[in-house]
Amino acid sequence: MPHALEADVLVAGAGPAGATAALGLARLGYTVCVVGMPRPFDACEGISRRVVEALQHAGFLAALEQIPPPGLREVDWNGERRAQNTESLIWRPAFDAALIPDLRDAGVRVVQARIATLLHNEGVPGVRLSDGTELRARIVLEARGRAAPQGRAVGMRGPATLAVLQRARGPRARPGSSVFACPDGWVWLARLADGQHYIQFCVAADAPDLPKRPGLAAWTRERIAALPQAQAWLEGCESAGPPTARASTALLHARPWEHGVLRVGDAAMAVDPLSGNGIFQSLSSATTAPAVVHTLLQRPADAALALGFHAARLHETFLRFARIGRDFHAAETRWAEQPFWQARAQWPDTEPAHGLLPRIVGAARRPVIEDGFIREREVMITTGQPLGVWRVEGVEVAPLLRELPHEPAAQAAALAQRVDAATSSPAQRRHLEAWFLRHGLTAVPSASSE
Ligand SMILES: Cc1cc2nc3c(=O)[nH]c(=O)nc-3n(C[C@H](O)[C@H](O)[C@H](O)COP(=O)(O)OP(=O)(O)OC[C@H]3O[C@@H](n4cnc5c(N)ncnc54)[C@H](O)[C@@H]3O)c2cc1C
Repeated sequence: MPHALEADVLVAGAGPAGATAALGLARLGYTVCVVGMPRPFDACEGISRRVVEALQHAGFLAALEQIPPPGLREVDWNGERRAQNTESLIWRPAFDAALIPDLRDAGVRVVQARIATLLHNEGVPGVRLSDGTELRARIVLEARGRAAPQGRAVGMRGPATLAVLQRARGPRARPGSSVFACPDGWVWLARLADGQHYIQFCVAADAPDLPKRPGLAAWTRERIAALPQAQAWLEGCESAGPPTARASTALLHARPWEHGVLRVGDAAMAVDPLSGNGIFQSLSSATTAPAVVHTLLQRPADAALALGFHAARLHETFLRFARIGRDFHAAETRWAEQPFWQARAQWPDTEPAHGLLPRIVGAARRPVIEDGFIREREVMITTGQPLGVWRVEGVEVAPLLRELPHEPAAQAAALAQRVDAATSSPAQRRHLEAWFLRHGLTAVPSASSE
């Protein structure tokens, strides 16, 4: 018997990634059903302006109202103290709850239920809820974050890391956050406007002194009391409830697509929380997933191209952030011999995090998003963007660089002429010239060649 379909696409998990992908799919005209339960623990997280912009771009309104203005982020790393950056502190239960009305307003059906398992028998993917109900769709997005079962197919995994989270109540003070290192890990403290305080202690999951759950509250109290940097922050605070242990190991799933199920967000790739931009990364795969699904459903002949695009972006982003994380851990040298710091200053490899000098490597045909579909186009591979750059400021760069003269003055004159013809405003032209200049090419004719 063919299965009755609940929607074109079922999204498992209603966190930022699942909700963003669902909005994108609804905008493409698909019927979408999101199935999710609130996370079983409280958490405070810091987000940058870039996340706010990505959420605005995705079409969220109610969720944006949960984001307070940014507060100062203090960093104490390798004995140096800085307070240059800011971040907005979001209380995840309230933020996640506010994603739901935004979904409903966009016509997405939301089922608040626990998923017992994903289904992929009989060629039709779906989910089975904990009450036994089965829902099927043409495609399922796995967006249950780190709670998504990993199976045996883990592609890459960083050093095993655990975050111990403790809430506290204290006097009202200016909201802000503080990150600092200690011999066996690092700590993030956050203070919200309503007097809630939040402590996140990241340690090696295999640390020999880490107790099992019953001993965790006493262990956390003792450890916090021993941190001099925490004392001023936590003056007058009382712990609120028991601590929670949260898995924080960096993970890249080996099979982002399997049996009609496409992984997005943390379910596909989760970065180390030290990066402080996990939500941004989870939104990046969720934002491009609708084009992948659209291609799979409308242009099955391009399925391999679309899935290759999805997998390559996850892999590239994961490695880039793993290397940035490695360098940040290595920059803390006071406890370089301690197991926590030693393991993280070496993983994943010794390749540079940021590529070399920004240079153009050459042209190649690669998948890009055009008009909501994944298509193959000519892109320029650069040292910083190994997956290729297709357009800068809306202008395709590969045609501008085809068969340029080698002689520098003639080359600059030819490039200037092409940039001029391809752009429609001085601002667009300036951006393009600046991009070429960053990559070692001048698009401004010298006086002699004019
Ligand atoms: C310790 C720690 C600290 C972090 N701090 C920051 C930070 O400061 N800033 C930042 O940007 N990022 C931070 N992150 C990363 C951030 O939490 C994630 O990157 C982001 O939440 C991923 O979004 P997602 O939608 O993929 O998954 P999630 O946000 O995890 O959403 C998944 C959703 O699926 C639901 N779900 C799971 N299983 C089921 C089930 N069986 N049935 C129904 N629903 C289910 C969950 O309840 C949840 O609502 C941190 C991560 C960790 C581990």
